[in-house]
Amino acid sequence: MTTRKVYIKCFGCQMNKLDSSLVAAALRAAGFEMTDKATDADAVVINTCSVREHAEARVFSHLGHLKHMKKSRPGLVVAVMGCMAQRLGESLLAHEAVNIVVGPHQIPQMPDMLTAALETNGPAVRIAVTQHIRTPDDAAAAEHLDAFETAYDSDENHIKSQAFVRIMRGCNNFCSYCVVPYVRGPEVSRPPRAIMEQIRKLADQGIQQVTLLGQTVNSYAYSAGERTYKLADLLEMASEIEGIHWLRFVTSHPGAFDNSILNAMARLPKVCPYLHIPAQSGSDSILAAMNRRYTAQHYLDLLAKARAIVPDIAIAGDFIVGFPGETDEDFEATAALVRAACYKNIFVFKYSPRPGTRAEQKLADSVPSEIKQQRNHALLALQNEIAADYNSRFLGRELEVLVEGLSKKPHLNNAQEAGHPQLVGRTATDYIVVFNGPESLTGRFARIRIDQTSALTLFGRPV
Ligand code: SF4
Repeated sequence: MTTRKVYIKCFGCQMNKLDSSLVAAALRAAGFEMTDKATDADAVVINTCSVREHAEARVFSHLGHLKHMKKSRPGLVVAVMGCMAQRLGESLLAHEAVNIVVGPHQIPQMPDMLTAALETNGPAVRIAVTQHIRTPDDAAAAEHLDAFETAYDSDENHIKSQAFVRIMRGCNNFCSYCVVPYVRGPEVSRPPRAIMEQIRKLADQGIQQVTLLGQTVNSYAYSAGERTYKLADLLEMASEIEGIHWLRFVTSHPGAFDNSILNAMARLPKVCPYLHIPAQSGSDSILAAMNRRYTAQHYLDLLAKARAIVPDIAIAGDFIVGFPGETDEDFEATAALVRAACYKNIFVFKYSPRPGTRAEQKLADSVPSEIKQQRNHALLALQNEIAADYNSRFLGRELEVLVEGLSKKPHLNNAQEAGHPQLVGRTATDYIVVFNGPESLTGRFARIRIDQTSALTLFGRPV
């Protein structure tokens, strides 16, 4: 029997990247071969994102290409997985290119479904499986996903000696603009035992940095008998695993952020002093309309507390501009928060209504797109100005970085240095550091003396 080739195209967040790598590992174990070209593949799997309209538009454009490709290769099987598969369900099967639709909780079935589509039924097959785990108590379903995760967590998840480990699924927050609670279901925390087993296995395979993943990672809570394990407990337990040097966690919600996490960060040397904690807006009325359940002052107080407990902490934030009803004053409040927060970096997104969310149903998308665009630019420009100035404090300092590999976009400042290629690494605080050095440093720690800084990147030389 010839080996069937699969091409996986992944859109969206780190959760999706993790799901794609799990599916790739499961497919390999089932005898498939991975290819990085759709034109070589017998089956194409698209892992989709629903968080923004633009992300869904890109998936449809991709499906358009595949429909075209199928005219000359009618045997090609196309599967859609991820959040958009969950959101649109069976209706996606109406698209001529699509054979299989798989929700995030049914990804363990992917190898069987591709096998059936390719070998039994051919391309005429139409399958959709998009059930939710409806309640956190749906233990059998959760265990099934957990077993899948533990069995297959070992493949492409290992790039550059770093790995991602999911500690929880879903979200209970229902921010008014967000589709995640509808497509990923309610919060379900994985058992600490399974998480530690996975991290131990990764450490044995040479992984040095583990990032714990969750939509609201600070809400992690797993009860076993009398005890409830929280994120700080996981950090403590994972810190004891030999071979692991750095531990990170993303993404945090500012609403109920426990001091114990900051204390663990201050106390445990392996826990990186880095917090990705979206604010989304600096205006209290917009935060209320977003159902974020905190005020701008609460958020700033949390950052002040984080800096008091972990003095070197670096903080990254996310913002949505052009939320329904956002006035110039609201936007100015967001800019004021950015000035006060002193972020390492921010991610800015223009609001787009997501079908089925409360914002889409109850609030008119009232901010014109050119204003959204202007606010997006203005906020990034402000942040760049602040960071460019703030980052100069690194000049002359020696920083430890985990080297990720060759720099994808060589920076002209020191691209010409003879003898060695330009490499890129990250500090514990998640700063990107560019330097020239032997490629063999990839996946290892190096000490770099910083001799130049910019808003987003530090430059230096190995010590
Ligand atoms: S916390 Fe809010 S924005 Fe984040 S995943 Fe949950 S609902 Fe979405």
